[in-house]
Amino acid sequence: MFDERDYERASELAEGEIEHALAQHRQRMRDGAEGSPDGSCLECGLPIPAARLAVWPNATRCVECQTDHERQQKTTGA
Ligand SMILES: [Zn+2]
Repeated sequence: MFDERDYERASELAEGEIEHALAQHRQRMRDGAEGSPDGSCLECGLPIPAARLAVWPNATRCVECQTDHERQQKTTGA
């Protein structure tokens, strides 16, 4: 779901594009989607990097917590 190429893509984004993605993210959160309105991780509360939100506007966890979360889902789902 998330790999290094997304970071490469994000690093290629212009600053304005990241700002735009963040604005979209905040709008989505205001519209009642799951997640935190300020772009902080649901698990640890640390801010989710703007570059990550630019790639994954629905991201509600930082990379570490998302990786843990997916690993747990795989383990319990198997
Ligand atoms: Zn986290």
